Amino acid sequence: MRLGTCVRRLRHQAFRTSMDIEIGEGALSGECRDSATPAQAATRPGRSIGQRHLSTSASATYKAQKKFVEILSESAMSTQLTASLTDIPLQTLYRLLQPITVHSTSSHPIFSNWGKTYHCTPLAVFEPESEFQCELVLELARREGKVVKAVGVGHSPSDLACTNEYMLRTTKLNRLLEVNAEKRYVVAQGGITLHDLHAQLAQHGLAMMNVGSISDQTLAGIVTTATHGSGITYGVMSTHALGLNLLLADGSRVFCSRNERPDLFIASICGLGATGLILSVQLEVEPAFRLKEIQESMSFDEFMHRYDQLVYSAQHVRFWWFPSSDTVRCSYSDRSKEPKNPAGSWWWHTFWGYHVTQLFLFFARYFLFLNTWISHYTCWLISSRTVGVDDGHSIFNVDCRYPQHTTEWAVPYRKSQACLREIRTWLEEESMDPNGIRPHVPVEIRFSAPDDIWLSPSNGQRTCWIGIVQYKPYGFNVPYRRYFGGYETIVARHQGRPHWAKAHQLQPDALRKLYPRFDDFIQVIEDVDPNGMFRNEYIQRHIFGMPVSGRIFKSRPA
Ligand SMILES: Cc1cc2nc3c(=O)[nH]c(=O)nc-3n(C[C@H](O)[C@H](O)[C@H](O)COP(=O)(O)OP(=O)(O)OC[C@H]3O[C@@H](n4cnc5c(N)ncnc54)[C@H](O)[C@@H]3O)c2cc1C
Repeated sequence: MRLGTCVRRLRHQAFRTSMDIEIGEGALSGECRDSATPAQAATRPGRSIGQRHLSTSASATYKAQKKFVEILSESAMSTQLTASLTDIPLQTLYRLLQPITVHSTSSHPIFSNWGKTYHCTPLAVFEPESEFQCELVLELARREGKVVKAVGVGHSPSDLACTNEYMLRTTKLNRLLEVNAEKRYVVAQGGITLHDLHAQLAQHGLAMMNVGSISDQTLAGIVTTATHGSGITYGVMSTHALGLNLLLADGSRVFCSRNERPDLFIASICGLGATGLILSVQLEVEPAFRLKEIQESMSFDEFMHRYDQLVYSAQHVRFWWFPSSDTVRCSYSDRSKEPKNPAGSWWWHTFWGYHVTQLFLFFARYFLFLNTWISHYTCWLISSRTVGVDDGHSIFNVDCRYPQHTTEWAVPYRKSQACLREIRTWLEEESMDPNGIRPHVPVEIRFSAPDDIWLSPSNGQRTCWIGIVQYKPYGFNVPYRRYFGGYETIVARHQGRPHWAKAHQLQPDALRKLYPRFDDFIQVIEDVDPNGMFRNEYIQRHIFGMPVSGRIFKSRPA
């Protein structure tokens, strides 16, 4: 039997049974007797999409629909399926989505970002295990006129991944699909975490070329936000994306790269998820390598004096600055053939560095001056020169400690020394004031090479990233707005561009001045997603200038 015939027959059966069980499609699409939309029903405790409509008399139909699912699922021919998807009765669609719908079991928000700084309660959260199921989610959203926001592991320290409508969690789309060691690329699904990717690449003697402070994120998450590591000759990680398989808002799947649909590609590799759902990424890799890292501390003045020389002294250079202690911890890493010899010990890093420091930070919520002592203490803990050799990703990654408020801006390299000096002067003034800011430490300083990605903060310029943090010891909140406000004023004066994954307040007018291709980016979104399926609140606010509060997903929205 041809697929089309089979689908038609089953569709007919499915329609009949929906009438048998008294509730037709209209009831499911907003005309339900208790006036709840299916999405609301899905998020109610103990409820699920379609569940309340499934009576025992429906079991015969259910079998038919199950068959329908099997037939559709077995076929991976997307063009044929796209045509069929639009014909699926709405009730059948709900049932198809039921197994991948995560149900809310309490009145608490069902999504919080890693930093526990933004929370949301989407109408429904879907966890697809196949690309076909992603198509179904988009089909439902299209019919209901809902936004779909893809989310990886929610590590963005802003509301970038939040939505009040449909959330599509990608973490079960996590397979390595292709390895080409000779041409040095792999293809992996967008939801694979970097930890998993490192492990699987290692089996093939390969590794990612540059990694940031952690490897918890998903591959698509780092690509869409231009996540960066450090190294003045290394681009942000999006520069290692060679091609993308996207599922667009109209249900079509497309491949894009620098040669095929280049505008869509360049827009998507720092596209904040607004161009489409990234199904898989073709990623440039290199033979597995170890890094030898040397760490040493020096005064801020010496750091400034030797700045250029230090930044260029190794492949991957980064600094952690402790303003209250006037000290900079420097890290220089180069590829090495030496045997593994990791530096540090559990006792030092975990007991003193993590647990004791967290206790101090907790007390510092009440006694502000303690923050200065914590800075001296942590500076002392890491004061000696260390040398360590380990797998590249183990050296790149650091302990990011506790849930936190954090922000980071990219300043043109040529302006970075002046910017750092200005931050220092400001914090010195604050330290003289008994009620002044006592920042948590360290300030993280990293670098990346110029690129041509429209929304990359490194677009067209060598970049110095300056990141600040206020930890939330044991999850308790700490003041941060005054510190972040003062910092943002200074970095903005030095033509800084905010990290897209981190909270900021820039509107389209300001962003347009910072990004010469900003309007080209908008044009691509308008072309591939004219109805705004992928425009969550963050995109509406920052890209389209809609009046959506930046605190909409805060515990205290005011
Ligand atoms: C502790 C910590 C350390 C960090 N270190 C660094 C660092 O060193 N350098 C740096 O630059 N950043 C860093 N970040 C930021 C982090 O890399 C980014 O926020 C990254 O996007 C998180 O990935 P994720 O999988 O959690 O994505 P999410 O936060 O879940 O989503 C981020 C964006 O990606 C989009 N997205 C996710 N999957 C898809 C998909 N399949 N298709 C389309 N869009 C998708 C989402 O829609 C959203 O717009 C850090 C964050 C934390 C919390």
